Amino acid sequence: MGVSLPRKDLFEIPDGIIYLDGNSLGVLPKGAASRATRVIEQEWGQQLIRAWNSAGWMDLPRVVGNQIATLIGAPEGSVATGDTLSIKVYQALDAALKMRPDRRVILSDNGNFPSDLYMAQGLIGTKNSGYELRTPAPEHVVDAISEDVAVVMLTHVDYRSGRMHDMPSVTKAAHDAGAVVIWDLAHSAGAVNLDIGGSNAEFAVGCSYKYLNGGPGAPAFIYARPDIVQGIDPALSGWLGHDAPFAMELAYRPAMSTERLRVGTPPILQLAVLQEALSVWEGVDMADLRASSMRLCGLFIAEVEASCPALTLASPRDATLRGSQVSLAFDHGYAAMQALIDRGVIGDFRAPDIMRFGFTPLYIDEEDVVKAVKVLQEVLDTDAWQDPKYQTRSRVT
Ligand SMILES: *Cc1c(COP(=O)(O)O)cnc(C)c1O
Repeated sequence: MGVSLPRKDLFEIPDGIIYLDGNSLGVLPKGAASRATRVIEQEWGQQLIRAWNSAGWMDLPRVVGNQIATLIGAPEGSVATGDTLSIKVYQALDAALKMRPDRRVILSDNGNFPSDLYMAQGLIGTKNSGYELRTPAPEHVVDAISEDVAVVMLTHVDYRSGRMHDMPSVTKAAHDAGAVVIWDLAHSAGAVNLDIGGSNAEFAVGCSYKYLNGGPGAPAFIYARPDIVQGIDPALSGWLGHDAPFAMELAYRPAMSTERLRVGTPPILQLAVLQEALSVWEGVDMADLRASSMRLCGLFIAEVEASCPALTLASPRDATLRGSQVSLAFDHGYAAMQALIDRGVIGDFRAPDIMRFGFTPLYIDEEDVVKAVKVLQEVLDTDAWQDPKYQTRSRVT
C-alpha cells in the first residue's frame, strides 16, 4: 500500500482553478520555488564554479535519472537525463538504426506526436541512403512490422486521443521480426504503471514537464537496455557523454554507461527543480495511481455523456486501452475550451477538433471532476463559447 491520493498539499494549485492539463504542463510542486532560489542564491551565487563539486551539480543528471528509472520500471543507472525529448528521440533512433545496418525502414504510426516524426525525417535526411519512414494507422502497426523494418518507434500513449499501445505485445512482435524498439513515454511516465525493464525494449525516451511536473522545458530522459549500452555509437557525441570529459582528449570515446547518451552541460536549475518534483512520488504506489486515474477518467466520461450531448468521446472507452487523459471531439472545441478556461477549468485543444483533459491523481479528485463537468455543461448549454473573444487562436492552443 502506498500513500493515499491525491496529495494536493504538495502542490501550488491556484485558487478557483481545476487543472486538467497536467498531461501538457504539470503543476508547480511546493518545494520547487525554494529549491530554485537556493540553487540560484546559495549555490550559483555563493559557490560559483565550485558548486559543480560542492553542491553536487555534476551528479545531478545521474541522481535524477535514477529517480525516473524507479518510476518507469527501469534498473538503476539505465536512464540518462538532459536536453529535450526531440533530441532524445533523435539519439535513440540513430542508435537503433545503427544496430540494424542492413535494414532501411523506421516504422511509427500516424497518431504519433509530430516532433518524433519530424526528427525521424531529419535523421533520414542526414543518411542519404534509402531510408524510409512508414506511418500506418496505430491499429495497423503490428501488421506493418515486416522483415525490412529496422526500428519500431512509437509513442505509448497517443497525445491526442489517449489511446495506449499494448507495450508487451507490440515489443514482442517487433523483436520477432528482428526490429529494435523505441517507446516514447511522454504521456505515460507518471501516468500509468510501466515496466520498461520487463518490456525488453531497447530504448525508451520521455519528457519530464508533463506528468512528472518538472516545469516548462524541464530536461528529457532516455533509457537504454543495459546489455546494449556499450554497443551504442552516439550520434551526438558531446563531451559530457565522453568517458572522461575533463581529460580533454581530442578524440571522442563514449562513457561505458548510459551516460554516453548525454550531450552537453546539464541544465542545473531545471534538474534541481525536477529532483524536487520527483520527490513528490516517494511512497506512491503506481498501481494505486493507475487505479485512481482510471476511476477519475471513467467518472469524467460518465458525467460528460450524461450532461453534454454535443460532445463525442474521442478516447477509447475501455480504460485499459487508455492513458490518463480523456479527449472529446467538438466542432467548436477551441472556442469552448477558451470559455472553459475563462471559468477556471483548464484543459487544452488539439487540432482539428479535440478538447483534451488530463487527469493527474496526484492533485485531482472526484469532486474536481464533477465540478469541471458542471462548468463544461454550462458553457455548452448557454453557448458561451460563441463569444467573439474565444474565437482567435493563440500560438499555444
Ligand atoms: C510532448 C512531446 C514531445 C515534445 O518534445 P520536446 O522536445 O520536449 O518539445 C515530443 N514527443 C511526444 C510524443 C510528446 O508527447
